[in-house]
Formats: sequence, C-alpha cells, structure tokens
Amino acid sequence: MKLSGMVLLLVCLSVASFADFDAGAYEVAETPVASMSSDFFYPPFFRDTDRLTFHNIKREIVFRLEFISGVRPEPRYMNCYKMQKRIERALKRYQEASNTAVLRRLDDELLFNSESPLAPYLKPMPVPPTTRCSYKSAGDLSEDGMTYCVYHGPVHNSTAHRRYAKYFSREKPYFTAFDLVELLIFSPVLLILPVTWYIMRKVLEKGR
Ligand SMILES: [Zn+2]
Repeated sequence: MKLSGMVLLLVCLSVASFADFDAGAYEVAETPVASMSSDFFYPPFFRDTDRLTFHNIKREIVFRLEFISGVRPEPRYMNCYKMQKRIERALKRYQEASNTAVLRRLDDELLFNSESPLAPYLKPMPVPPTTRCSYKSAGDLSEDGMTYCVYHGPVHNSTAHRRYAKYFSREKPYFTAFDLVELLIFSPVLLILPVTWYIMRKVLEKGR
C-alpha cells in the first residue's frame, strides 16, 4: 500500500513538473548581439579548424580531393546550420500562431523538451548533428535576435549574420588553413600567367 502510494505520488509529481513548463522564462531577451563574447563571433569549431596546423592543412586538401571525386558527405556544420534554419522556421510559425508567451530567447530545454510550447512546431523532434551541438540565442528573437550553436556558431550569410558582419570578420584571423591551401592550389596559376605572357611577347616580337 505504501509502495503504491509512493508510486502514485511520483507519477503525480512528474506529471505536474511536465505540465508546468515555464514558458515565461523565455520571454526575457538575451544579451544584445553586439555585446556577445568572442566565442559567439568566432565559434570553437572554426577556431580549431582554421588554425595553421599540419592536421588542418591535410584535412583541407582531403576535403578538396573528396569534393572533386564527388564522395564528400555534407559537413556536420552544414547539418547544424540546416537544423538552426529549421528552428528559426518553427519560431516563425510559433510567432505567427499568436501564442500568449512571446519567445525572446531559446535553449536546448525549449527545443528538446516535449512539453515545450515550441514542440508542436518542431515535429518531428530534431536531433543535433554532433554531441557538441547545443543551441542558444543572442538578442531578442522576436526582433533581430539570432539562434546559434555554441560549437558551430550562427548560420553564415543569413540577414542577421550580414547585419553584424564587421563583428564576425573582426574576430577571424587574417590567414587560415583554408587560405593556405587555396594559395597552394592557385600559386601554379600565378606562376603560369607571367610565363605565358613572356612567351607570347617573344612570339609576337619574332612575328614582326
Ligand atoms: Zn552545431
């Protein structure tokens, strides 16, 4: 009898905790975008992969070879951006449905808790592409705020990203592993051009 009473109490408590999802906590906006930390503008994933290390340079070369041969699967960060776009679409649908609570910020709890007011707009429940993906927001999502992943950062080339482009470019180093590999690929072209020009000039001179 005692045990069944305990079970009943636990069930009641868990139902109560699910039922009162605190949507009010999401009506408060986050820090304005312009005041976000450098990790927001230059996320850990790019901080790691941009560094001029042998591993990163090799990865950039392998990436290009795989891309040319057509075997390159979509990078994880692109999957993450697709997921962020999906979250933003769900937020837009939520706002358009004129719900009472105005969602001004988000976190994993709002996205992945099945009792969240956003859950009906996010069905089927998305799965983060990596274990390091965790979603948050900057600024006011009902105005010009941004969704972002703490590992991959916000979606590139979005309207909001373009609005704060100078903040993003300020954090990025001048020369990355990507730039080095691009330079290695194009340096033969840069050498061929003056040689071709010299040969053409000689040929034209002889023809006169
Ligand atoms: Zn991510």
